[in-house]
Amino acid sequence: MLFEKLISIIAVTASLMDGGMDVAMPDKNVDGTTFLINRQYVISENYVPEVRKTNLAGMSQSMREDAATALEELFAAAKSEASCSLSTVSGYRSYSKQSAIYNRKKASVGSVEKADEYVARPGASEHQLGLAMDIAKRNSSSLSSNFGNTSEGKWVFENAHRFGFIVRYLEGYEEITGYNFEPWHIRYVGKEHAQAIFEASIPMETYISAYKLDVYDYLIHKVTNEVQP
Ligand SMILES: [Zn+2]
Repeated sequence: MLFEKLISIIAVTASLMDGGMDVAMPDKNVDGTTFLINRQYVISENYVPEVRKTNLAGMSQSMREDAATALEELFAAAKSEASCSLSTVSGYRSYSKQSAIYNRKKASVGSVEKADEYVARPGASEHQLGLAMDIAKRNSSSLSSNFGNTSEGKWVFENAHRFGFIVRYLEGYEEITGYNFEPWHIRYVGKEHAQAIFEASIPMETYISAYKLDVYDYLIHKVTNEVQP
């Protein structure tokens, strides 16, 4: 446990020394599950993933096939294990839709600087990857930090990794991720990475930077091979 915390601290420190989000990108494959997108690493307007509609309660939303299937399993488990009913609010978001949202915000707040405080610039949203979904309690479409205090939000926080998802924007890591705590935004990275990220309790940027430090092997093999430090 102590070693685990130490690893987190080393990784976080290294990430900060690197200038926060300026980290290695181990997955150059945009169709892979660990491709990093944030306010610094934006994606081209030409990137359009293959997505399908999720078969879930809520607004009709799309994701990539593997993420959609995993999310359907997550929703089913939330219901059967904890009687938690969830709904989808926002999934795949095209570059042009991001542009429209950004421009609307810019017009309403009057400046680029102000708009940047509220919404990501086009290409900076990982919703464009087709691997992110904003979720809420059933019959609710509002996204608020209060979701984290509900039984649904708590279940998602504790269990999302079992299905390959991470709660992407953690509390206390705003400087690294560029986002405030968003308990409703989950990102698919696959089970192996999700479990390692969850157990280390670090943001994805830090996890990715661990590739540089050889602690990545530790993080991932600890959970897959049960290697004891
Ligand atoms: Zn989101």
